[in-house]
Amino acid sequence: MFIETRGNDKQRSSKVEFSQAILNPSASYGGLYVPMELPSVDEDWLSAAKDLSYKELCFDILKKFNLDIEDDILKKAIDLYDGFDDKNNPVPLNQINSKTYVNELYHGVSRAFKDMALQPFGYLLSNLAKKQNQDYLILAATSGDTGPATLESFKNKPNIKVVCLYPDGGTSDVQRLQMVTNEAENVKVIGIKGNFDDAQRALKELLSSDKFKKSLEQKRIRLSAANSVNFGRIIFQIIYHFSAYLKLLNSEVIKSGEQIYLTIPSGNFGNALGAYYAKHMGLPIKKILVASNINNILTELFTTGVYDISNRKLLSTTSPAMDILISSNVERLLFDKFGAVRCKELMNDLKKYKKYKLTQSELLVLQEEFGACYCDDEFVKKTIKKYAKNSYALDPHTATCLKASSLVEDGFINVIASTAEWTKFAPTMLNAINDSNVKYTDEVALDEFSQTMDVQITKSITKLFDKDVVHTLVVEKDEILSHIEEFLR
Ligand SMILES: *Cc1c(COP(=O)(O)O)cnc(C)c1O
Repeated sequence: MFIETRGNDKQRSSKVEFSQAILNPSASYGGLYVPMELPSVDEDWLSAAKDLSYKELCFDILKKFNLDIEDDILKKAIDLYDGFDDKNNPVPLNQINSKTYVNELYHGVSRAFKDMALQPFGYLLSNLAKKQNQDYLILAATSGDTGPATLESFKNKPNIKVVCLYPDGGTSDVQRLQMVTNEAENVKVIGIKGNFDDAQRALKELLSSDKFKKSLEQKRIRLSAANSVNFGRIIFQIIYHFSAYLKLLNSEVIKSGEQIYLTIPSGNFGNALGAYYAKHMGLPIKKILVASNINNILTELFTTGVYDISNRKLLSTTSPAMDILISSNVERLLFDKFGAVRCKELMNDLKKYKKYKLTQSELLVLQEEFGACYCDDEFVKKTIKKYAKNSYALDPHTATCLKASSLVEDGFINVIASTAEWTKFAPTMLNAINDSNVKYTDEVALDEFSQTMDVQITKSITKLFDKDVVHTLVVEKDEILSHIEEFLR
């Protein structure tokens, strides 16, 4: 069963099943759903699991959660990993230096780690919708990767309509094209004049707006969300942390029970939260290192205990998927550590004063399990260049993780979560290896980088440039609602 991070308002049930939590992800007082109890695994289980395929591992772990989803449906959802580059190894693990391994989470259709969760999640959600004979509207706000992955996940799915909001000018050409060329009848893509936080705020307001809900009711459409506030995504983001560990165990890089570090390039904190849940289920993780760019709100939280956006402006970086100030999933961590009453208090402070402050002892509790650091775009460029020389293309988000290497204690293995393929950020990649600062188009940069580095461009990326743009709308925030209404009509 799933409970609420800010306690219960007595208007909703205080506990819901998984299907409920994913169909209607907004809990009392604007809170989120979290599992009441995490299942656990022990060393014996891990030893026995090390020969499982990714899909088998996924199924076994999901089963431990006792979800109200039938086995054959779960299996069909998981089968979507067969669409990844290598169906026998959808999430490859690569060594890049003596103590560092890269867990490549981007081998799905949209070339970003969002596919890891959104592919199976999309199947589960539309299956539930169909079973209920109920139409759903999925709203997604994207900083560039959630949008394409969400559209791929829900396109042409029965009983589902999707509206995707992206910050105009805040994504790469490739990311934008992945969205605006989507031809499916059931999707609508809208550019927002503003940044990702504006898009996410607009989405949250819509999700909690009674007026909007009423209008949907009249059309007999229900509302859901595919952002990582939805636990249906988080649950699939637990699995790949296990898979990396088990591969290291299997290849005898580590011994049974040995702890490792995980480093996660973070924005909305969904990926890092998945690592935290994996740790609390029994995966031997020494610490989770949270990597950020100069929008270093999470570094500030984990080093000082203060979360303060009152004086911050969102800065554009070369790792745009991490250009976030309101990191929604931190709430689930605060709940897990400090309970619903304190969590609600902190979230209310954030709303009212645009900041909250943990006590010294609360900070220490977080620091037992988390380290954090950030880097600027210069560091990212240098890091990309350094590894490119060894013929390994690290995308700009993944590159931020190398900054955290100094936080890894001697003698420990560090696994970096690689969240995107380089092809999504080709101008940054090319500028990095050329030590330049040129304004390339993605198309030019893709060609030049691939030739210089002798790496292939993924076919689905090349094809984007020949497709027709079918979504041209870019609007002010207060115009979003009317455009959605028109689409639904
Ligand atoms: C979404 C995304 C992130 C941030 O992940 P969170 O789970 O939101 O912290 C990092 N890198 C890339 C490439 C992403 O698409």
